[in-house]
Amino acid sequence: MFYFGPRAQRTSESIVCLGIGGGVLVDYLSELTASNLELSAQVMESFGSADIRGVALSYVENSGISRTKAIPLSKLESALVGGVGMSPVFDAFLLDDSITSSDVSGGPMGDLRLFPDLSSATILPNEGWGWIPVNRFRQDRSPHPLDHRLFATKMVDRLRSMGISSKMSFEIEWILSSNTDGGFEPATVGPAYGLERIVELGDYLLEILDALEAAGIKVEQIHPEYAAGQFEVSVAPTSPVVAADQSVLMKHVIRTVSHNYGLRASFAPSVVAGGVGNGGHVHFSFSEGEEYLFGSGPDQRYGLTGRGESILAGVLSELDALSAIGTPTVASYLRLVPQHWAGAFKCWGVENREAALRLVRSGPLVPPTAANAEIKSFDLAASPYLVVGSVLAIAAASVDKGLTLTNPIDTDPALLDGAALAAAGVVRMPTHLRAALDALSHSDVIRTAMGNDLYTAFVAVRDAELATYGALEPDEVVAASRWKY
Ligand code: GLU
Ligand code: MG
Repeated sequence: MFYFGPRAQRTSESIVCLGIGGGVLVDYLSELTASNLELSAQVMESFGSADIRGVALSYVENSGISRTKAIPLSKLESALVGGVGMSPVFDAFLLDDSITSSDVSGGPMGDLRLFPDLSSATILPNEGWGWIPVNRFRQDRSPHPLDHRLFATKMVDRLRSMGISSKMSFEIEWILSSNTDGGFEPATVGPAYGLERIVELGDYLLEILDALEAAGIKVEQIHPEYAAGQFEVSVAPTSPVVAADQSVLMKHVIRTVSHNYGLRASFAPSVVAGGVGNGGHVHFSFSEGEEYLFGSGPDQRYGLTGRGESILAGVLSELDALSAIGTPTVASYLRLVPQHWAGAFKCWGVENREAALRLVRSGPLVPPTAANAEIKSFDLAASPYLVVGSVLAIAAASVDKGLTLTNPIDTDPALLDGAALAAAGVVRMPTHLRAALDALSHSDVIRTAMGNDLYTAFVAVRDAELATYGALEPDEVVAASRWKY
């Protein structure tokens, strides 16, 4: 498989409707259609010669789950023109497929059109299947305001209109079970990071490497992680919406290969209550021409340029609100605890794996181009598109504010007493979904960027999950969410 490359840059200002990208009205559907037309012959030929018969179209909704409608390949070309219908009700789905509602979501009425983005079309490891992420539009051609991928696209455009390019990547952690009946039994006995796990599951890991490469994903590392049965893949940074697409695709590929081996992969934040969980760390960096905002600055400021520092300070100050996006479900807070390398403290550090915000700084072995920041607290219950959009929205809002950072935290915050934490200005990240949602409700930056409808529908799902799972015992929360993401 392949990638068809980033969508063509906007060339026309003949704008009809109806999304805000970088302060201009952008006709997102016309743009997408034009890009698709350029790519359709190539995709049809590739899909045809791979004997693709079914094409899964998918998007991520507010519970963080990918939902799909599939079409026969023969219907793909007409789908590029008119889209594929799908109810808007999924914006009100919870992780258990129950349905809540809000002023802007829920109920049996209405229809949306799913428009594939061929630039991310991929041949899946599932024999005969292709995959294409979609953007959702209303029947009047306007962008669906609750569509996560369009939100991310708009935020990329917003930064681009300021002359700033961004790159991102998601790390995927999963815990592998040999019990596929709903229970959990770790699929390995080898130790954390143990070479023994390559003995146990070398063929399986090779098949994942092959399948990811075939899906056009540039793997940088694959390794056994800390928890029993846990593994991780990290991949090269790319443009933000593609990074989010890849996050969806990587989970799908890993799930498929695991299934083929008679195993089951859990991407849930917490797989065994009290144990180390699965993170979904996001890495990001920015550049303006030849200048890398996290790497081209002076050594005494850890390589940060003034604008880079202002972005990081902006992200740091919004971390509690971002928790509602990046650690969005009740189970997230079983994982987000100190000394689990989950980034449970609201602080930044240079290569500090207990800090929620970690700078991978430039230096003798890391060129400015590779310097990046990582939010460690996020997990894979999050919609990667909301993560992308929210982080970029904060970057756009803070880059020109001249914000500064205090000194980085260079120790494990869990070892500091209350007075030392207070002196360093370090607090815990939210310890409960309620606190994260409260913080989000006070974030003008994220709320304004999301728009009222997306914010309202997202919070309705989060509130409903809190009401359903908030009072359960940890074991019950884990059992309810272990196989959902
Ligand atoms: N599993 C850890 C988490 O929950 C992350 C370990 C690491 O890669 O630093 O985020
Ligand atoms: Mg890891």
